[in-house]
Amino acid sequence: MKWIMKVTVIGSGYVGTTTAAVLAALGHHVIGADVDSAKVKKLSAGILPFVEPGLDKMLNDKNIRGTLKFTDQIKEAIQASDILFIAVGTPSREDGTADLKYLRSVADTIAASINDYKVIVTKSTVPIGTNRWLSDYLRKKISDHTLFDVISNPEFLREGHAVYDTLNPDRIVIGGNSQNAITIIKKLYRQLNSKYVLCDWETAELIKYASNAYLAAKISFINEIAQIAEKTGADILQVAYGVGLDSRIGPEFLKSGIGYGGSCFPKDVKALISTADLIGVKTHILKEIESVNEAMPDVYLEKLAASLKKEPWTISILGLTFKPETDDQRESPAIKIVNKLLPVCKEIRILDPTIQSNLQTPWPHDSKVKVCQTIKETLVRTDAAILCTAWDTFTGIDWNKAKDFMENPILLDGRNIYDPNIMKAAGITYLALGRGN
Ligand code: NAD
Repeated sequence: MKWIMKVTVIGSGYVGTTTAAVLAALGHHVIGADVDSAKVKKLSAGILPFVEPGLDKMLNDKNIRGTLKFTDQIKEAIQASDILFIAVGTPSREDGTADLKYLRSVADTIAASINDYKVIVTKSTVPIGTNRWLSDYLRKKISDHTLFDVISNPEFLREGHAVYDTLNPDRIVIGGNSQNAITIIKKLYRQLNSKYVLCDWETAELIKYASNAYLAAKISFINEIAQIAEKTGADILQVAYGVGLDSRIGPEFLKSGIGYGGSCFPKDVKALISTADLIGVKTHILKEIESVNEAMPDVYLEKLAASLKKEPWTISILGLTFKPETDDQRESPAIKIVNKLLPVCKEIRILDPTIQSNLQTPWPHDSKVKVCQTIKETLVRTDAAILCTAWDTFTGIDWNKAKDFMENPILLDGRNIYDPNIMKAAGITYLALGRGN
């Protein structure tokens, strides 16, 4: 028998919209609810307000459209469903702790709207203890405690591969203290072929943070090794390949470069450190993951500065998003690089497939920043180019031609996407970290 459930996903960002679309594709009746009316209007019209490959197609799929609606009427959306997913943002505060104001606001709306039994599922990444807090908070506000159960069901999708990851999860973690609610959420996902981890709230929350911290650690680790490769003449790409062939280690997340960014790793590592500080656990590895990452833009820029003549420079930035296949610029290392270069540049040109104007950058009114649309416009008379995001389109640049219109044919490859020998043959002064002799 097919189980069809009524689900509301609160928060229609990268995670919420993907969750809503995939659950609708599995046949459930889904409402995506968001306070941002402009976003809701677009989603209702089948327009994805951000870049996520394949998700726009799902929104416009005839079958999915029949079972997926979007609304800004949160109360009605809560009342219409039996399962409520919370997928709102949990950004970092100044002090590194997670800001739970959006989650609290959703909790208040649920408490004010609840009309029947609901399973309330936290999909947002929340600090250890938050689901217990949420349950207690709702118990204070909702006098009939049989009206809800709280489940922790953290999300592990990768932006750029969100649809695939949601349809093919490595594991589904379901944390809670109600067997009934855990069973309901298992049934919701029953068509997905996945391993389950059934646990308590705190375990589920820590699985999420530990996973992100471990992936961030792999990146910082290989970035530290790249600095050793740089000084010793070893080739970091071959080192990473050789290390990654060990089945105990694996090849993923061993790509050295200008560092990790995005809306998850930086904030989640920070939040985990804050939690550890709060409970009196001394963290060493976690803090070093962060400090290695923060240093990477400078490590690369020092190398560039040594090859350039006197400032002010014109620099071309290839890619501003934190990784390819997404328009997400949150905590992008490319942004850190531009911010560091601005005081010593006369112009910074940016080329990114997801950016059409300065208004889509963090520098909407800075006259030094120029968003470009073509390779030529980006590179003409530039003092150097910096590859910051490994967009596929940049691998196709004809550097043989490009070097003719660059002031200095200098390329700093912040993601190791080019072959140093091919670049040399093209007449490019190729700079990277730890690419061997
Ligand atoms: P996002 O910023 O893209 O989307 C959050 C959405 O929530 C926004 O559309 C916002 O308008 C909406 N919102 C805020 N307050 C609301 C309210 N009171 N009622 C209804 N809607 C409200 O965020 P995201 O990237 O989708 O991340 C959501 C959560 O998932 C975060 O906790 C994040 O850490 C976690 N996560 C994200 C990813 C990722 O790759 N983006 C992966 C795994 C986990």
